Amino acid sequence: MNIWPTYHNFSAEFREQNRNLVLYDTLHHIQALLLYHPNCDCGRNCNCAEQRRKIVLSLNLALFERIRKERGNSDGLGMLREFLKIPEDAYFFRENWNDAFPLRFIMKELQQKEVELKRVDQIVWIFLRLAKTSESFGGGGQTSISESARVIQGNLPIKKARLSEGLPILGCDKFYTQNLDKYKSICHLIAAFQLHQNPSIFSSPEAFFTSQTPENIDLTLKRAHWIRHKLITTKITKSKEGKSFPQRVLKELPDWVEYEDFSNTLESVEKKQQELEKESSASHSTSKQQMKCGN
Ligand SMILES: [Zn+2]
Repeated sequence: MNIWPTYHNFSAEFREQNRNLVLYDTLHHIQALLLYHPNCDCGRNCNCAEQRRKIVLSLNLALFERIRKERGNSDGLGMLREFLKIPEDAYFFRENWNDAFPLRFIMKELQQKEVELKRVDQIVWIFLRLAKTSESFGGGGQTSISESARVIQGNLPIKKARLSEGLPILGCDKFYTQNLDKYKSICHLIAAFQLHQNPSIFSSPEAFFTSQTPENIDLTLKRAHWIRHKLITTKITKSKEGKSFPQRVLKELPDWVEYEDFSNTLESVEKKQQELEKESSASHSTSKQQMKCGN
């Protein structure tokens, strides 16, 4: 299933000239995926693809209206309307269409998913940080989802636990792993927004998304690309978890998104670092003793 916009009737040159529109269109597809993710459990009556289509149409229509106001009714507008897959009747009846699927409804739905999406964001980032910590000790970046959930919750009972690794705790570790499972195919897209650093996504989602510049969107997509790569290449500590982030499950980014390494933005996890320091000094002294015995 392709989750990204396609522009079959348009030349590569036209796409390149309108790269900003491609970026906004892609952002709108991500917004739709956050609300109706592709591995839903609706079964045969699934209406999610249709809901995503409507959300993208509403967001693209709002974008088109902004462009139209800026440029006036110039000649190229018809092309742009087609490019954004806005049917002529939706354009003509835009006010009615907005009544049927208003933006505020999309934003309200997003706010309702706040806790679930924040849990996914937190656990993905802790997983990446644990992998980086292990990597710095020559451990090949080994970690696991359950270890990540444990780090978030800490050793305290949930009522006493308030902050772990600087993050507010959003329920017990079981909820984290459940939500990650639910949104796994797009977890890298969720984490790319760095929700833990951008609270305004939920306090004023409309302002957050409409203020995204093409540069911001480009950066978010590159970050998602890197997160996906890290998740699928990190070795999992416990074999029973199998491949926690299978390549085939995590949705690929559009093929025009470039790869950039963001590893230097990751901080290590102090608790894991202390454990690994202890382990490495213990194995160091054991090998010293073995050398002595050999003499
Ligand atoms: Zn569904």
